[in-house]
Amino acid sequence: RPMDSEQSPPLFRPTDGSYRWNGVAYQPYKQDGSAPFKDISRQTLFLDPTLGCELRYFDMDAAGYSTLERHEHTHAVMIFRGRGQCLLGTEVRDVKEHDLITIPAWTWHQFRASGDAPMGFLCMVNTVRDRPVLPTEAELAALRAVPAVARFLDS
Ligand code: MN
Repeated sequence: RPMDSEQSPPLFRPTDGSYRWNGVAYQPYKQDGSAPFKDISRQTLFLDPTLGCELRYFDMDAAGYSTLERHEHTHAVMIFRGRGQCLLGTEVRDVKEHDLITIPAWTWHQFRASGDAPMGFLCMVNTVRDRPVLPTEAELAALRAVPAVARFLDS
């Protein structure tokens, strides 16, 4: 298949060490106060339909967090920098640089950066995927019934 120069990204995209990459769009999340996430940005590093998956990089400021959500598609995550905590189902785990986390289908998940430093993670995902769903009030109450989860959500 011939390379399509309009569609193909450059083969080399250096970083300057700022957790951004040349030619990669930086997407800070909008925050209007009602957003279910905090101080987190997204960059899609690789998106190739022939691979069927894409690799994103999420970066959170200290105390930032990703959306608490679940969906049918799975995630393969590597903590890229920093440390914090991860909610997976009703389990809360400390996570640190280079840890791997597999997020199965329909499993509640959220990442929270420690209070003192940024945390970033790589996330591999299907290119074609279902939309994430947020917990209902009842589902959130059920999650909060687990003390460790309540502490995590309030941290
Ligand atoms: Mn997700």
